[in-house]
Amino acid sequence: MQKLVDGLHKFQSGYFQSHKDLFRTLCKGQNPEALFITCSDSRINPNLLTQTGPGDLFIMRNAGNIVPRYEDAAGSSEAGTIEFAVAGLGVQHVVVCGHTLCGAMRGLVEPSKLEGTPMLKRWLNHAESARQFVAENYRNLEGDAKVTVMAEENVLTQIENLQTHPTVKDRLEKGELRIYGWVYKIETGEVFQYEPERNQFELISDPSGIAPVPAKFRERASI
Ligand SMILES: [Zn+2]
Repeated sequence: MQKLVDGLHKFQSGYFQSHKDLFRTLCKGQNPEALFITCSDSRINPNLLTQTGPGDLFIMRNAGNIVPRYEDAAGSSEAGTIEFAVAGLGVQHVVVCGHTLCGAMRGLVEPSKLEGTPMLKRWLNHAESARQFVAENYRNLEGDAKVTVMAEENVLTQIENLQTHPTVKDRLEKGELRIYGWVYKIETGEVFQYEPERNQFELISDPSGIAPVPAKFRERASI
């Protein structure tokens, strides 16, 4: 904990002092541009990754960057968080960001890894259609490569799940909201986005190439 406490002192005497105007503005309210949904994994730092600061991102995190479908989400923190961001704060963008080397995704492709964590195993039922898709279509892959494909397919499944939430559906239909599917590669710091036209994840190399995922983006959406 010493590291954390030392950090608090450093933050208060350093960053906070040099950004006083920003924090004064943020006292009046928040107007984040995006809801950023990602894994709880300690190796991901959404603000560092996107070079954003306080007030820019409304962040929702859990193991596996999961979004329960609306019919399974009553009373969940995820449903309330999404509602607050999309209907309450009026964010214009939602990013669902998975990552390579994800422990939750590894549990999906190697169920024996989940033996000591029954609650995590149950939680990952919200990714069951992605798990099935990978099991049936990527039999030849193993190890980290399979975990990466699992992370990609899970992002797409969670985007489908996100669209079952009425607040999201409503603003998508009005053209007021855009959703993006990303996978962060821990090994290189690169981020790949889902390209609906080519139905694959591709490196984001050009800011003008950022592509939202349309409401109906692939045949698997009906599974
Ligand atoms: Zn993870």
